[in-house]
Amino acid sequence: MDVSTQAFVLVAGDPAVSGLVDVARTLGSEVVAVVAGGRDVADAVAPAVDRVLWLGDPGGVPVEAFAPDVARLVLEAAPRVVVGATTAAGRALLGAVAARLGAPVLGGVAAVELDGETVVVSHGVLGGIAEHRTAVTGGPAVLAVQPGTVVPAGAGPVVEERTSEPLTGAQTTEVRAKVHVGVDLGAAATVVGVGRGLKAREDLALIEDLARAVGGEVACSRPLAEGVDWVPKERYIGISGQHIAPALYVAIGISGQLQHMVGVRDATTVVAINSDPAAPVFAQCDYGIVGDLYDVVPALTAALQAGA
Ligand SMILES: Cc1cc2nc3c(=O)[nH]c(=O)nc-3n(C[C@H](O)[C@H](O)[C@H](O)COP(=O)(O)OP(=O)(O)OC[C@H]3O[C@@H](n4cnc5c(N)ncnc54)[C@H](O)[C@@H]3O)c2cc1C
Repeated sequence: MDVSTQAFVLVAGDPAVSGLVDVARTLGSEVVAVVAGGRDVADAVAPAVDRVLWLGDPGGVPVEAFAPDVARLVLEAAPRVVVGATTAAGRALLGAVAARLGAPVLGGVAAVELDGETVVVSHGVLGGIAEHRTAVTGGPAVLAVQPGTVVPAGAGPVVEERTSEPLTGAQTTEVRAKVHVGVDLGAAATVVGVGRGLKAREDLALIEDLARAVGGEVACSRPLAEGVDWVPKERYIGISGQHIAPALYVAIGISGQLQHMVGVRDATTVVAINSDPAAPVFAQCDYGIVGDLYDVVPALTAALQAGA
């Protein structure tokens, strides 16, 4: 497919689009917002773009139900790039559109540039420890980027309503605000992470005692948050969890798999406690204690409390 010089911004019900528009402006001569969502959303994004195509009131369908309509508009206009948000709704819509276009979605976007007419995307892989450069040919580049913020109100182009036939197989029955547990791991100077070395949920008390003694927050590896659900999901560290940069990270009963350790690669000091001397975490820490956490952790806590 020959592409035009337009850049499409895909709006999935959320008017926070400054990040998407920034990328689109780098790559396209005309930035067109395609809005799946309410009219208020279309009006809110208008000041940031050159054209707004609104797909009509979504009624009870989720935004990804508009994927066939968006894909049709993309095929008609053949923009150089389609930029969507990394939010849950943004990914759902972008993924469904990309599937219809037969295009890959490029995420982890660090930089974009034009090499002649070719879109070149630098994007992080393996949790950001390596970078790929991808030159997209043969159709629009489909990019998932951080949404940014709501753009300031102001004058914008007239919103153009487009006919749409969203899929009706799914209906939104309830919208609930996400409950935040109030933890800000990113702000913590000390974080104590625990993994599958822990044998029982009630043993978390040992970890919490140590965290209290060092003035830190409790975190975990993914299996404890998404496997046994002993720890809230907001507290797991790694490639698909939180990326943190504390002064001290203590990894307890954590083997040190890449998917976990990329989340603490910016920690200043890493201490590992593990009963297996061959655990990979020992190759990635500053200080290692080989031992049973059920012996080491209470002893450390007691020593810290005695010294306090
Ligand atoms: C696509 C994908 C994304 C992923 N994303 C993440 C992510 O974001 N974050 C994440 O954490 N994981 C992630 N994972 C999972 C990851 O690959 C590992 O499976 C996980 O990190 C292992 O958790 P763990 O170290 O707690 O468990 P294990 O690997 O089972 O390690 C447990 C460790 O505890 C030690 N141990 C056992 N008993 C004791 C004891 N009594 N005292 C001391 N040590 C003891 C063992 O020696 C072992 O080293 C992902 C996987 C995939 C496929």
